[in-house]
Order: sequence, then structure tokens, then C-alpha cells
Amino acid sequence: MSIEKKTLSEDLIDLVGADNVIIHDEELEKYGLDMFGEKHTPLLVVKPSSPAQFKRLNFILRRNKIASITPRGKGYDINLGAYSDDLIIDLTLLNKKMEIDTEKFVVTVQTGMNIADLQDQLEKKGFHLPIEPILNGTLGGFIASGGIGYGTFQYGSIMNYLRSATLILSNGQRIQTGTPGAPLFSRGYNLNSIVCGSEGFFGIIEEAVIEILPKTPHSLNLLLKTDINSLLSVIPKLANLSTIYNLSLFKTLNMHNPSGLDLFIRLEGAQTVVEEDFTKIKVLSEEKGSNLNEANNLWDNRPKNPSQIPPASTIIELIVPTKHIPEFIKFCEAFENPSYFGIFLDATSVLLYIFLGKEITPDRKSDILTELKTSANQFELYPPTIENNIKGFVKESYPNLALLKKLKPIFDKANRLKSRKFDF
Ligand SMILES: Cc1cc2nc3c(=O)[nH]c(=O)nc-3n(C[C@H](O)[C@H](O)[C@H](O)COP(=O)(O)OP(=O)(O)OC[C@H]3O[C@@H](n4cnc5c(N)ncnc54)[C@H](O)[C@@H]3O)c2cc1C
Repeated sequence: MSIEKKTLSEDLIDLVGADNVIIHDEELEKYGLDMFGEKHTPLLVVKPSSPAQFKRLNFILRRNKIASITPRGKGYDINLGAYSDDLIIDLTLLNKKMEIDTEKFVVTVQTGMNIADLQDQLEKKGFHLPIEPILNGTLGGFIASGGIGYGTFQYGSIMNYLRSATLILSNGQRIQTGTPGAPLFSRGYNLNSIVCGSEGFFGIIEEAVIEILPKTPHSLNLLLKTDINSLLSVIPKLANLSTIYNLSLFKTLNMHNPSGLDLFIRLEGAQTVVEEDFTKIKVLSEEKGSNLNEANNLWDNRPKNPSQIPPASTIIELIVPTKHIPEFIKFCEAFENPSYFGIFLDATSVLLYIFLGKEITPDRKSDILTELKTSANQFELYPPTIENNIKGFVKESYPNLALLKKLKPIFDKANRLKSRKFDF
């Protein structure tokens, strides 16, 4: 270990204890392999557990001339992700505080908290956060990676529920990105959009104040066994129903229908409206196998952590326009029959995860990624996380890049330390 790294690790151990600093290569490697199989070796990993530690942490970083850090939750994000060669700040121990205000309908929570733990606590009080990711990452990771998932069809993204975040800038200073006491859609100061989808670019989100909703009084799950053509005719009709909470698409992942295409529908709302919608769905799907038990089973056992998703050599995350699903799936069939799982964000697009088999050779994998990349325009795919090419995507397509470029130096001037290094 270099003298610099040794001094840094001693300082960090002094701050958070030896159990909360990862220095050994084999443990560091667990933090370093992304979903594309690319290896990153973090300098070290430190796990702060209380807000009070951040001030000294910042001092230590400056003292050791650490120019760049990467905040991290569970590391489940597959595009920009929390993978880097930086010092990683693992925030999963920052999960002690959760204050639910059932009169004002808000929860104040430390961002290392798992989404599932947060939901459990809210549900005990009759509330819920209406949007949640497929995998049970941290609240901070969900906010920083844009926050869409189950519930987006009806409720949009986490941005619609975030009143304010406490952001630790790289000089240790804390700022509120919104006004915790003011309703979300009031006029005035609101910088929430610099944390939602920021991927940790501007600093560490330490705490968030989030609006919550009373739990929906009624829900109903159903499963339509379908084919591509019926799928396309059904989706636009479903968009007119008011209680669709979630629409998911499965191919070969669902054990009950290992070769077919399944559309999972969850309705949530007042009982009478849910039942009306259910009747309409039965009519428009011509009652093709709307199996309730299978659907309940699927929902209750939905995968929440990576060990429950199929073993795959690569997971590709894409947004595919609904109109291109048939050709896109046909195109993908050429890839050793991959499995899919998708969540419709609305009637026009699906967030699709493609699981490439574990047995695929590295050469074949790279061919597939190249094929996908060259076809991205043809299918209007977005974002091309293929080959971890998010930086190229941001450079070409992200409308706020110019603004970000202007903002970042201002943040960095106020801060002696960059929170995240990006070279465009
Ligand atoms: C099969 C599969 C399905 C998925 N489905 C969804 C989905 O439906 N919706 C969805 O949104 N994502 C989805 N993801 C991606 C990922 O699971 C989620 O984004 C998850 O919420 C990330 O949480 P995490 O704690 O693992 O964050 P990490 O992966 O650790 O971090 C995510 C990003 O946020 C930054 N970050 C983390 N914590 C903080 C913090 N406290 N402050 C500042 N920056 C921070 C990191 O630097 C990184 O850039 C999926 C991934 C897979 C593999």
C-alpha cells in the first residue's frame, strides 16, 4: 500500500472504525465489477454512519488531497452506477433516521435506508411511497438515478414526491434543495432537479423529505397471456383506465409461461373504479387467461434483490417505444434467446431489462452489444446504456449538459473538492 493510501486509510479508520473502511483488494473487488463485466478498483471504501462524520470526512479528504469521490448505495444501478476508481462513500449505514408525519403526509429519512424498509414502516402507518424501483436499493440511489419504476405509470417519478434533499457539497457545507415545509408545487426556490437523476454529480444526498400517500384502499393483480400483436392493440386501450398502477412485460422470466409473453397488470384505487377497470380489461382482452392467482403470486414474489434475478452475463437497460416492441423483440430473438422484463412508463414506452445468458462468451457478448448499439436509432432506443456508453449519450443528447457544465464549476469553486469527476 502506498504511503498516501496508508495515511488515508488510517485517517478514515480513526473516523469510522476499522469495520467501516474497506482496504483489502478482494473486498474492494466486490465493489468494482459492473453489470457489463468491466472492472473498477476503488481506491478505498468508507462507510460513514452519522451525519456528524461528514464534516471531518471532508477535512480528511482535503488533507489527503482526494480530488474525487463516488457516493454509493447498494450499487445496483447499471448505467452510470456507483462504480469507479475513486474513494467510494458507501452510504448504506446512513439509515437511522425516519420521521413520518401522518398529518402533513411527509417522511424525513436518511438516504441509506432501503426502499423496502421505508415502505414497511410507512405501511404500518397506512401510507406508502407510490413509486419504487424493481431492485431494493437505497433511497439515495433511487433519487440520484432518476427514480422511476413500479407505480410510474400512474404516479410519475420520485421527482414528483421529493420536497427537499439535504445535499452535502464537497466542502462539507449542507444545502437544502427545496423547502421541506412547503407543498411541492408551490412557487419559488427549488433545486430538486439537480439531485434527481444527478448520479451523485453535485454531492452526497444525506437526507430527503418526501411526500407520501395513504395506501390505496383496493388493489387487483391480473396476468394476460398474450402475443406481440395483441399486446400492441391492448396497451393504448389500457392507457384510458385510471387505476393502472403498474404494467409489466415478461418474456421467459415467468416460470408459469416459460416461453410466452405475459402482461402483468396491477390496478390500485377505490374499489368500485378498480372493479370497473377490471371488467373493461376482461372485455378488451377477450378474457384470455386473466389468471388472478398467478398474478398475485407474481406480485408477492417479485424480485427485489439481485440474487432473485436470473443469472446473466450482462443486463442491458433500455427504454423502448411501445410501437417498436415487436420488431425489437424479433431482433433480440437472434441473441441466444434472452429473457426480458419490462415496466411500462406510460402507454408509449417501456423500461426494458434484457438478460443475456451466463454462458455467452465474451466475444459473442461484445458482438451483441455492438449489434444493439448500431440498431439503437432504428428502434429509437433510449438511453443507450449499451457498452456503458452513458457518457456519450449525455454528451450528444442531454439537453441540460450546457447548464450542468456552467453549474459544476460554480459548485466546485465554492467547494475545494469535486464530488464526481466527469470528463466530457
Ligand atoms: C434488473 C434491474 C432492474 C432495475 N430496475 C430499476 C427501476 O425500475 N427503476 C430504477 O430507477 N432503477 C432500476 N434499476 C437500477 C437500480 O437498481 C436502481 O437505480 C436503484 O434504485 C439504485 O439504488 P442503489 O442504492 O443500488 O444505488 P447505487 O447503484 O449505489 O447508486 C446509483 C447512483 O446514485 C449515486 N448515489 C447513490 N447514493 C447516493 C447518495 N446518497 N447521494 C448522491 N448520489 C448517490 C451513485 O453514485 C450512482 O451514480 C434496476 C437495475 C437492475 C439491475
